[in-house]
Amino acid sequence: MNTEWWRGRPDKAEDKLPEFAASYGLGEAPPDLAELRAVLRRLIEDVSERDLRLLDGFLARGRIRRRLRDGAIVLEPVVCDWDWVLSEVASSFVPLLDRRDRLKICANSECQWTFLDNSRNRSRRWCGASACGNAAKVRRFRERQRTREGEGFVSRARMRSPASTRSDGERHLSR
Ligand SMILES: [Zn+2]
Repeated sequence: MNTEWWRGRPDKAEDKLPEFAASYGLGEAPPDLAELRAVLRRLIEDVSERDLRLLDGFLARGRIRRRLRDGAIVLEPVVCDWDWVLSEVASSFVPLLDRRDRLKICANSECQWTFLDNSRNRSRRWCGASACGNAAKVRRFRERQRTREGEGFVSRARMRSPASTRSDGERHLSR
């Protein structure tokens, strides 16, 4: 799902899907791979019957058979091809449908990667990429600085005012 890099920033955006496909040595990726990615993305944002049907269609494409391995039944693909890959990717997504409250989209509007928030209070806002958390930290730091400059201006103005006896209390509250 995260093969789209910098989704929210067209000048920087990169599609890593062909690279991802090549890394599995399966030859050129079919356009369906990008379609599946779009379906999964939409399902994270909102579950619709139409997308569930499309997901089901992807699941149906991989043919698997039962084999006996070390005394246990294992499922293996009949043919290792793109249909099987699409089906596997779709299959790995299905358990996440029950965890949609933890499936999130990175709060960095330029990034918009998808991630699973495993934090106890589901408070994560950024994907795992350090760039996003750091960008947010820099933004917050700058905002704090601007606020401080603003406060400095206000408290200096108050200090000049003889009637200002509450400025310490106010500064404390605004912190
Ligand atoms: Zn991100």
